[in-house]
Amino acid sequence: MSDIEIAQKAKMRPIIDLARDRLGIAPEHLDPYGHYKAKLSLDYIDSLKDRPNGKLILVTAISPTPAGEGKTTTTVGLGDALNRLGKKTMICLREPALGPCFGVKGGAAGGGYAQVVPMEDINLHFTGDFHAIGVAHNLLSAMIDNHIHHDNRLNLDPRRIAWKRVIDMNDRALRDIVIGLGGTANGFAREDGFDIIAASEVMAILCLSNSLKELKERLGNILVGYTRFDDKPVFARDLNAHGAMAALLKDALRPNLVQTLENNPVFVHGGPFANIAHGCNSVVATKAALKLADYVVTEAGFGADLGAEKFIDIKCRKAGLKPDGVVLVATVRALKSHGGVPVKELQKENLEALDAGFVNLARHLDNVQQRFGLPCVVAINHFTSDTDAEIALLKRKVEEKGSKVIVCRHWAEGGKGAEELAREVVQMVDSGQSNFKFLYEERAPLWDKIKTIATQLYGASDITADSKVRQQLDRLSEEYSHFPVCIAKTQYSFSNDPNLKGAPSGHVLSIREVRPSHGAEFVVAVCGSMMTMPGLPKVPAAEAIDVDENGRITGLF
Ligand code: ADP
Ligand code: MG
Repeated sequence: MSDIEIAQKAKMRPIIDLARDRLGIAPEHLDPYGHYKAKLSLDYIDSLKDRPNGKLILVTAISPTPAGEGKTTTTVGLGDALNRLGKKTMICLREPALGPCFGVKGGAAGGGYAQVVPMEDINLHFTGDFHAIGVAHNLLSAMIDNHIHHDNRLNLDPRRIAWKRVIDMNDRALRDIVIGLGGTANGFAREDGFDIIAASEVMAILCLSNSLKELKERLGNILVGYTRFDDKPVFARDLNAHGAMAALLKDALRPNLVQTLENNPVFVHGGPFANIAHGCNSVVATKAALKLADYVVTEAGFGADLGAEKFIDIKCRKAGLKPDGVVLVATVRALKSHGGVPVKELQKENLEALDAGFVNLARHLDNVQQRFGLPCVVAINHFTSDTDAEIALLKRKVEEKGSKVIVCRHWAEGGKGAEELAREVVQMVDSGQSNFKFLYEERAPLWDKIKTIATQLYGASDITADSKVRQQLDRLSEEYSHFPVCIAKTQYSFSNDPNLKGAPSGHVLSIREVRPSHGAEFVVAVCGSMMTMPGLPKVPAAEAIDVDENGRITGLF
């Protein structure tokens, strides 16, 4: 059965009942969006502040490959398994973006028997958060061009606007465009472009804000461009845009409550890109979950070099969160892919390739344990094509490194298939082995921060940048040395080169560009080429998606 067929057979509980029975939340604190989705009130979340926090478990993975790893699926499976063991557990996930849904990736609500439902809603319009973020973002865009059109009192340089437009669609034709054509009534013509909403700084801001007040302040701090001649930065607050933007985001800031196939509570909230932004769900949802449950399982995008690093050095640092342990997801297929096997041949047993590709897992495991001081268990997400010999080899290799490894079958069996993992996770986080530390000091020059990440996590020997970028970094360091860096690089490799699989070392990470995300409070370091507006593949997933006369959706995966 496909993911959507399984999801459509789910016996969902009314979300109001589930919230009351499982989390003790009275109905008046919830705003239902239909019967199975609800937004939780921020006042209610605030009222929980004196409760103790539950344990925070991060699910991350090896470097992604086209073979797929299953972080979301494992996050859901582990959450269900913990609940099966009687542990009061919540899951925190990101909201899927529409663009990838119609492209190659498909949905992002888990897979098989470890899914979050209502799957079609979560993957399509959900509660409108993406829409609200897109409109708030584009309001600022419109106000910028309107300001220039009228008297340009702020003397904004139309050639140096640092704020694009956004849309929730993979549409490469919008990457670079010209706006304002058609004569004087339509403003000044200038170059512009679109990013996907997941890449919007408004998304990052929403996900890092603790309150509406903070959200508004950060929106006001967005850098929109520079003045002509005297090169002064201009912020959203100079255009008086932040109040209206925050008004549009009032509901989007409230976490969305949904459930797993096994009727366990989940927050699905916020969906920042894992390269240009920090790639994890909202701080509001994570903090609320820690008050409502004893265990919270959450996922960060891409491999541990990108997702876990940003989760720790950006989200946890800014929000004052402390993870208690990590689950590192690996698959036999993906490791064979790291060992050089092409996608078509991944079905076949190949112990040599698995052995060779293991270095990727080993590097991530060392990084999590040594660099972040976190206890870590390896979860092998079992695929039906895995052979006994492959599983045995992989287990042995992890055990030889002195780490725990567990084979999980949640995709095929639901929570039951991840109970052993859940038992191990409970032991790991309850034993308090965490020596949690950030990778770099908060106050260090930005250059040094990037170098630390590259040399300590990526195995690079050094970093480089041309003199313009270096100067820019030095200048930004004067004002923003307290900002963390957000590395935007390929997710497929520890290096800049997506084809360099496994665990390359001695490479030099080159920084192409730096962009201050003033409102989100980090500095993005762009390494190699990077896309903030993906395109659709030759045969987009959209071609297979349909709806019948009864409103039943098919082909979404
Ligand atoms: P990630 O979060 O790492 O991007 P997902 O959990 O979203 O990955 O899974 C990606 C896809 O792989 C989903 O369509 C899911 O159904 C599929 N998948 C995950 N685990 C398995 C498995 N064990 N066997 C088969 N398919 C799987
Ligand atoms: Mg995922």
